[in-house]
Amino acid sequence: MTVQFQMSRAFEGPVSEAESSVRLGPVRQLLNGNWVDAADGRTIAVESPATRKTIGHTPRASAEDVERAVAAAEKAFPSWKKVVPSQRGKALLKIADELEARHEELARIIAHETGNALRTQARPEALTCVEVFRYFGGLGGELKGDTLPLGDDILSYTRREPLGVVGAIVPWNAPATLSSIKIAPAVCAGNTLVLKLAEDAPFAALFISEICNRYLPPGVLNVITGLGTECGAALVSHPRIAKMSFTGSTAVGRSILANTADRIIPVSLELGGKSPAIVCDDADEEWAVQGVASAMRFTRQSQSCTAGSRLFLHRKIYDKFLDRLVALMGSYKIGNPLDETTDMGSLINAKQFNRVCGYIDEGLKHKDVKLITGGLPPKDGPLSEGYFTVPTLFASTSNDWRLAKEEIFGPVLVAIPWEDEAEVLKMANDSHYGLAGYVFSRNTSRAIRMAHEIDSGWVQVNQGKGQIMGQPYGGFKQSGIGKEMSLGSMLEGFSRSKTVTVNLTL
Ligand code: NAD
Repeated sequence: MTVQFQMSRAFEGPVSEAESSVRLGPVRQLLNGNWVDAADGRTIAVESPATRKTIGHTPRASAEDVERAVAAAEKAFPSWKKVVPSQRGKALLKIADELEARHEELARIIAHETGNALRTQARPEALTCVEVFRYFGGLGGELKGDTLPLGDDILSYTRREPLGVVGAIVPWNAPATLSSIKIAPAVCAGNTLVLKLAEDAPFAALFISEICNRYLPPGVLNVITGLGTECGAALVSHPRIAKMSFTGSTAVGRSILANTADRIIPVSLELGGKSPAIVCDDADEEWAVQGVASAMRFTRQSQSCTAGSRLFLHRKIYDKFLDRLVALMGSYKIGNPLDETTDMGSLINAKQFNRVCGYIDEGLKHKDVKLITGGLPPKDGPLSEGYFTVPTLFASTSNDWRLAKEEIFGPVLVAIPWEDEAEVLKMANDSHYGLAGYVFSRNTSRAIRMAHEIDSGWVQVNQGKGQIMGQPYGGFKQSGIGKEMSLGSMLEGFSRSKTVTVNLTL
C-alpha cells in the first residue's frame, strides 16, 4: 500500500515571501557581553533547508575565539558565584518573561533555520524555552546543603558550589531548547558558560543569547559559532574548562570522553538513540496508532534522539495496525515550514538528506524487507527544492539489519512482528543505545512490567510525548551519561558538594 502525500499550500505560493518576514536577530558571537566577529574574520554560510538558499552568515570561530570566550567566562566567575542563588534565579525569570513575550519571533527563526514546521515543532519548541528558564529560575533556593547530627561539639555541613567555567556544545535538531537546557541550570548554579552552537542552526540560540545578555552580567554567558572540528574540539580540549556538557552524536560524545580523560573533569553526554516502540495485541486502536506516530516524531521529520524508530507490533494486530498507521502517515502535509498548515518540514542539510536517502535505498534493495509506504523523496516538483523526505515504513521480520539497528535521524520506521513477551523484550534491548522506549497496552500491569524490563533511561506507557521539565532525562548505555531537565540534574551536573567540619569546642 502506498499513499499520496499532500503538499502544504505554501508551495503553491512564494516561499521567499514567508521567509523574508523572518528577522534573524544577532549574527555574531557573544563574548564578554559584546557581539563580535571571529578573530580571523572568517564566516560560515547558513542555509534554509526548505529552499537551500543562504539565509545568513555567522563567525567561524577558531581556537583563538575559544580562548577569548574562556577568558571572559573566567573573569566573570568570581563575582557571579557570589551572587545569591535566588538573585541569579531572578535574572532567569526575567529572561523567561521576555522570551515568552517574543516567542513568536523565536519560533519563526527556528522554523526558518531548521526546516521544522512552525505549528507542530518550532512554536512548541520556543514555548519550551520559556518553561526551561522559568523552571530553573525558581530553583535558586534549592542549591542547599545538609547538616550532619554529630553532637554539640561539631558542626559538619555540606554546601553546594559552582564548578567554574562550563563548556557546552549543542546540535541543530532542537537548537533553542537544547541551548536553554545548558544555559539556565549552569548559570543558576553559579557557573559561567561558553556555549558552542550548531553550525547549521545558530540563529535561534543567538536570539535567546541576546535576551540573556540583557539580564546577565558580561562574561557569564559567552556564545561561539563555528565548526565542531575547529572551535568545538578546541573548547573540549581547553585546559581551563571545569566541565563539558555535550548533546549530539554518540561518535562525537565518545571522542569528548577520550579528550577530557587526562584532565579528569566531569562530562555529561546526551547522545543518540534507536528506541523501541512495543505495541501489544490489546492496543489495536486509534490512540495507539497516534501514540506510535508521535513517538516516532514524524512531525519533526523524526530528527529526534528519542524517536521510537523500531516498531515491534504484535503479530495478531500487525496488518490492521499498519493499515491505520499508513493512513495517518499519508495525511501529513509536507512543505514550507513557515506555513501554519504544514505538518512536516524538511531535513536539516544535504548531508542528512543524502544519509537518510541512502538508508531508504538500502531498505528498497533488501530482499527480506517490504516497503509499506513512502520511499525515496520526489526528484522534481516543489518538495525537491529543499531537503524534504516523505514518511517511510518498511516491514521486516528481523531486528538484525542496518535500518533496524542504526540511528537514521529521518522519518524511516521499521515494523517487526512479535508474539512472545520475553522475545520482544530481548529484541528491544538488543541495541547499544538505551535512550527511550514506548509500550502500548490496555493491560497497565503488563505494560509497566515491560517498561521496567526495557533498558532505557525513559520509557513511556500509552503515549509518545516530549520531555517534561522537572523529570530527569538522559540515556543508558551508549546514549549518554548524566541527566538533564530536573533539579537533581542541576545539582549533580552543574554544582559540587563540599563538606565543612568545624570543631566547636574552642
Ligand atoms: P554531532 O555530534 O555531529 O554534532 C553536535 C555538535 O557537536 C555540533 O555543535 C557540532 O559542531 C559539534 N561537534 C562535531 N564534532 C565535534 C568535535 N570533534 N568536537 C567537538 N564538537 C564537535 O551531532 P548532530 O548530527 O549535529 O546531531 C544529531 C545527534 O545528536 C543525533 O545522534 C542525536 O540523537 C543526538 N541528540 C541527542 C539528544 C539527547 O538528548 N540525547 C538530543 C538531541 C540530539
